[in-house]
Amino acid sequence: MGQKGREIVRMNVDELINILNKALSDEWLAYYQYWIGAKVVRGPMKDAVIAELTIHATEELSHAELISNRISQLGGTPVLSPEEWLKISNCGYEPPFNHYVGEILDQNIKGEQCAIRVYNELLDITKEADPVTYNMTLTILSQEVEHEEDLSALKEDLDLMLMKIK
Ligand code: FE
Ligand code: FE
Ligand code: MG
Repeated sequence: MGQKGREIVRMNVDELINILNKALSDEWLAYYQYWIGAKVVRGPMKDAVIAELTIHATEELSHAELISNRISQLGGTPVLSPEEWLKISNCGYEPPFNHYVGEILDQNIKGEQCAIRVYNELLDITKEADPVTYNMTLTILSQEVEHEEDLSALKEDLDLMLMKIK
C-alpha cells in the first residue's frame, strides 16, 4: 500500500474498499454469466453470439483485474471467497436455464444495465474524492455501455430475422 496514494483519497477509504469489493463480485459473476452463456447458447445466430459473449467474458475479467488492483492500492483485500460474490454483489446472477439465444441476450442486457447504474453511481461518489478510482470507473463504464449496445444490436438482428420488427 502506498501511503501518499491512500492519503489523497478524500473519502472514507474502508467504505470505498467495500464498494469496490461489491463491484469486484459483480465482475466475477458477469464473467461467468458470459462464459457459461457462450457454452450453452442455442438457436439462430448462435455463432455470432458466442463470439461476442466470449469477448465480453474476457473484458469482464479485465474489469475484475482493474478493481482488484485498485483495492490493493488502497490497502484493502480483494474478496477472497466465491461464496461472498452472491452475498455482496449489486447485480446478482441469473443462471441461463433457458438456452435460447434471445433469452441469453436478454439476461446479459439486464446485467449490463445494472452494471451501468452501479458504475455511474461510483463516478458520482468518486468525482471529487478520488480521481484514480474515478478514472478507472470511467474506463469500465465506457466498456459496459459498449457491451449493452453490442448485445442490443445482436438482439435487434435476431428480432429482425424472426420478422418481429417490420
Ligand atoms: Fe464489467
Ligand atoms: Fe459488461
Ligand atoms: Mg463487444
